[in-house]
Amino acid sequence: MMDTFGRPLRNLRLSVTDRCNLRCEYCMPEDDYVWLPREDVLHFEEISTLVDVFISLGIDRLRLTGGEPLLRRDLASLVAMLSTKPALRDLALTTNGILLAEQIDDLKAAGLRRVTISLDTLRPDRFVALARYDELARVKDGIAAAYRTFSRLKLDAVVIRDVNDDELVDLIEYGKTVNAEVRFIEYMDVGGATLWNPARVVSRHEMVERLSAYYGVIERVAETGDDGAQSAPADRFALPDGTTFGIISSTSEPFCRSCDRSRLTADGLWYLCLYATHGTDLRTTLRRGATVEELRELVAARWRARDDRGAETRLALADRRAFVPVNALRQDPHLEMHTRGG
Ligand code: SAM
Repeated sequence: MMDTFGRPLRNLRLSVTDRCNLRCEYCMPEDDYVWLPREDVLHFEEISTLVDVFISLGIDRLRLTGGEPLLRRDLASLVAMLSTKPALRDLALTTNGILLAEQIDDLKAAGLRRVTISLDTLRPDRFVALARYDELARVKDGIAAAYRTFSRLKLDAVVIRDVNDDELVDLIEYGKTVNAEVRFIEYMDVGGATLWNPARVVSRHEMVERLSAYYGVIERVAETGDDGAQSAPADRFALPDGTTFGIISSTSEPFCRSCDRSRLTADGLWYLCLYATHGTDLRTTLRRGATVEELRELVAARWRARDDRGAETRLALADRRAFVPVNALRQDPHLEMHTRGG
């Protein structure tokens, strides 16, 4: 099933909670937050039903996210429900890693296939300054556990000028020790990033230049999906020693043209773009007693009409600043990155 630009419905990011145990300055820099009402948060059976609807329309890659997904009680039970769906070719998790060491055995046993861990800095003092909690040691324990369990993993780092942009090499070198492909994410002006401004963005171009100055010639790694289209948002590169890393350049060189992702919030709102201001309320429809066929029709109609190119629209703006003002985030927490899942 294609949208108006011929993009397939393929990738679903499922936020299982809007709560987080960090307060990263690029995502949750404010002092207080409006949380989703607990009674609105989807039960596992409801999530499973919605995932079946999406699978029947083409989704075959599912990523659990949040908030911090490991804060959702008994997440392994949800993973067990989802991992039995044969149509899912990929079932992954994005986490900050703090609670990973204690949960990873259950998650693996339940059928989780891979993890991506967010790691922006290797310096404990900087970690606290960036994320407000002194948790780097537990994150590293989580990374070690992921390495032991899955033997390879991905590490995602949001790069911000004068915050952690001097750690590109250190992060790649650390990644080598745990068989992790590091992916550098350009700082995005998404909801929640209220401290964003263009001067703080380190572009893909600049990152490659800096890494080339240290490592020498860096080659682009060509990568295409089954259908020949670029499938992942990260552009991949190889160092002279063969080590690969990725850059997600959503800010300076958006990938809207090939974006096959959509996002379901923990309370069942479905967003077709990270920058979309309105989502489709699947929870209310589901709880009203809609049949699977009715839900299918609703999802299919919305996807076919999808014309979002949020990041490209943002790029075209002459005067670009944070996307959503704080008071708007308070009125609608669904605009937050930690609600709709990064
Ligand atoms: N708590 C989990 C974690 O830390 O990975 C999952 C949720 S978090 C919202 C997922 C990802 O969102 C983070 O790795 C971070 O890369 C990304 N993110 C949040 N705000 C961002 C921003 N302003 N720019 C770029 N990426 C951002």
